[in-house]
Amino acid sequence: MTESPFKKGRAWIGLDIENLRHNVTVLKSMLPEGCQLMPAVKADAYGHGAVLVSKELNNMGVQAFCVATVVEGVELRENGIIGEILILGYTHPEQFYLLAEYNLTQAVVDFEYAKQLNSFGQLIQVHIAIDSGMHRIGERCENLEHILEMFRMDNLMVSAVFTHLCAADSKKEKDIAFTIGQIEAFQNLIYQLYENGFTPKTHILNSSGLLNYPECCGDYVRVGIALYGVPSTREDMQRYFSGIRPVLSVNARVSSVRQLHKGEGAGYGLAFTAEEDMDIAALSIGYADGLPRCLSCGVGSVLVNGCKAPIIGQICMDQTLVDVSGVSCVSTGDTAVLIGTSGDETISICEVAEEAGTISNEIMSRLSQRLERTVCK
Ligand SMILES: *Cc1c(COP(=O)(O)O)cnc(C)c1O
Repeated sequence: MTESPFKKGRAWIGLDIENLRHNVTVLKSMLPEGCQLMPAVKADAYGHGAVLVSKELNNMGVQAFCVATVVEGVELRENGIIGEILILGYTHPEQFYLLAEYNLTQAVVDFEYAKQLNSFGQLIQVHIAIDSGMHRIGERCENLEHILEMFRMDNLMVSAVFTHLCAADSKKEKDIAFTIGQIEAFQNLIYQLYENGFTPKTHILNSSGLLNYPECCGDYVRVGIALYGVPSTREDMQRYFSGIRPVLSVNARVSSVRQLHKGEGAGYGLAFTAEEDMDIAALSIGYADGLPRCLSCGVGSVLVNGCKAPIIGQICMDQTLVDVSGVSCVSTGDTAVLIGTSGDETISICEVAEEAGTISNEIMSRLSQRLERTVCK
């Protein structure tokens, strides 16, 4: 890959591709014979860069992907990604031609939608989504007649049926019982399809599904968050994600260092006031880059030269102030780490998510296009 001369200019994402490869190997080793990874590279591969990540996965022999939107699928094809690309979400009929033109596979969100797809008039590859209890998309398990009718539609090439588990990450007894119910309802449907002469491929599991219900793999496993080496919450990390390693770091330059005198305020609304003389630094990253604004005023910290530097005042759209009184020798051009490791210190995505009151999936998927994606290993 040719590196842009602007990479690591102002603020950037570092990608540890060795860790991505490691995670692929770990996850593949969990699959039974005949089951393939179908990595979720939606939302720009959870902020990592969908084209970059998918190319790497193609090189590692991965031949199936899932994305959320048809435009995400088109982007992958235009950049030479091969293999099956499943669009997990709704595609508007005006965009059906893209499915055919770019050889994309569409999830059938329900029976009405199957009829719309069928009436487009060109052959379309589909996977039928089955609602086994999440009640988001999918035709209900019990509507066997509708599902059979979809198999018989002239313009639909049905290669798989799939469902999605909505509580597979939970260890609560009632959630486990519910999940087992979802799996059984789906498997029961598969038997009924077999009895009617249809033998589609199947997939059920996302990352937490694979970790907790590995016996239900089917033909594909739709791993997202685990591939990127990140648990959704810190609790998950302690529970089951031991072998995988984070791929992404977020970094920004120190743009200016100055002294703040006792009693002076800093930033918008002067939300911060110095209690004594101190050293502060401005970083060239802000909420428009995906840094959650709710980390303002001491909620979040960053790492500068291996030391923690608390965020002070309000995070701005493009800049952030930090307290570097406890950091020796900070100068303009130094790298601040917002997610990742500096010296002996690490700030994990889970920590940031916890401070921001959300899950790591949201933090990653909101990292903006303005951050350069750079391969560091
Ligand atoms: C996003 C998504 C996945 C991947 O989920 P992870 O929890 O990140 O592994 C799998 N299946 C569907 C239907 C999804 O929307």
